[in-house]
Amino acid sequence: MNAEIIAVGSELLLGQIVNTNARFLSQQLANLGIDVYFHTVVGDNSNRLVSAIETAEKRAQIIIFTGGLGPTKDDLTKETIARHLGKNLVIDHTALTAVVDYFKRANRPMTENNRKQALILEGSQVLPNDHGMAPGMVIKKDNHIYMLLPGPPKEMEPMFLHYGAKALAEHGESQEQIVSRVLRFFGIGEAALETEIIDIIDAQSNPTIAPLAGDGEVTLRLTAKHVDHNEAQFMLDVLEQKINHRVGEFFYGYNDTSLLEELTKLLKKRQLTVTAAESLTGGMFQQEITSISGASSVFKGGVVCYSNEIKHQVLQVRSETLDQHGAVSEQCAKELAENAARIFSTDIGISFTGVAGPDELEGKPVGTVYIGITIAGRPTMVQKLTLGGSREANRARAVKFGCYYLLKYLKESQSA
Ligand code: ATP
Ligand code: MG
Repeated sequence: MNAEIIAVGSELLLGQIVNTNARFLSQQLANLGIDVYFHTVVGDNSNRLVSAIETAEKRAQIIIFTGGLGPTKDDLTKETIARHLGKNLVIDHTALTAVVDYFKRANRPMTENNRKQALILEGSQVLPNDHGMAPGMVIKKDNHIYMLLPGPPKEMEPMFLHYGAKALAEHGESQEQIVSRVLRFFGIGEAALETEIIDIIDAQSNPTIAPLAGDGEVTLRLTAKHVDHNEAQFMLDVLEQKINHRVGEFFYGYNDTSLLEELTKLLKKRQLTVTAAESLTGGMFQQEITSISGASSVFKGGVVCYSNEIKHQVLQVRSETLDQHGAVSEQCAKELAENAARIFSTDIGISFTGVAGPDELEGKPVGTVYIGITIAGRPTMVQKLTLGGSREANRARAVKFGCYYLLKYLKESQSA
């Protein structure tokens, strides 16, 4: 099945608002394994809307409209679709009660045009609006499914999540279950990852594989369809194994997790504590780890050691190290990590020192970063990065790399 999204609203064409509804719905439809081939935007004009519908009917089975369900004169989506499909608009009593109640609760008089919000296409399935007044609806005619959703994202998004997705599955021809799973990778670029598994991607139609990159990470969304839910899961297991056989060293977790969340989970499981000595990241690692609930059992505290003075006085980095190698050096990263772990009495110490930019430092180019990691009983590891982004991007990337290396080092130390 494939879908087209028609966003109705002149504000969109005037550039006053961005069509975030299309983005949201596309993401959701991808989760459901429904292909979206076209996004259309049309103004609040009945003739042009009809022409957009006629075009969409030629190329999509599912047509989803957003916007124009409200009570005002420019809201004409329902009326136009009703005329186009030859359907009457009838009052839905549940919806009318909701509208009347809304005005009662708000202690405002209800104007007559608000009755319009309770009008639905005759024979349609109503999608309740838990965050506003105008209900959505789904109607099927001549091999097409039409779904009407309100314009405001705070009404449209929950409506689709709670009622719309299910309605699509029920209206669909097949009883197929759609199951998807996101694999998250770090430390490999999108293009490199795709090259590694391009033959697998090309050979797959069920499950499908959809790569997506962002924030220095790459994800693969695997989607399987099968009448049996367990069978669909099994198909995903098999495909995941095949993929991770090639690029498993970069794989770190599933679905909505993050590197830091996985790291915290693992530290908790192994009952290990961590401290951080942060120069270029200025506390970002510590800020992020403390944003994860339950971090207190693994994170004790740390230091922002931005100046050489603090590196020396508080973290006891030797003067010779700073004089001979500089603050941005393997030696300094090593001492920072080791000394922090010793001073804070933790199992693990991680350090970040480098040149965030825009200016170079100690003759070292922007983007040079050293990450030191010490784990009790193991040799201290120092990783050098050469990042090429802006100041903010370099700092954020350094934190992610730190988490990634620490996770990797912990996993290796377990298997060793
Ligand atoms: P209302 O009952 O609030 O009038 P409606 O269903 O009639 O809702 P519109 O009048 O078309 O919807 O749009 C209302 C508001 O919803 C817009 O002002 C805008 O803030 C938001 N909106 C509409 N369409 C989109 C879209 N495609 N993407 C993001 N926001 C949108
Ligand atoms: Mg409106």
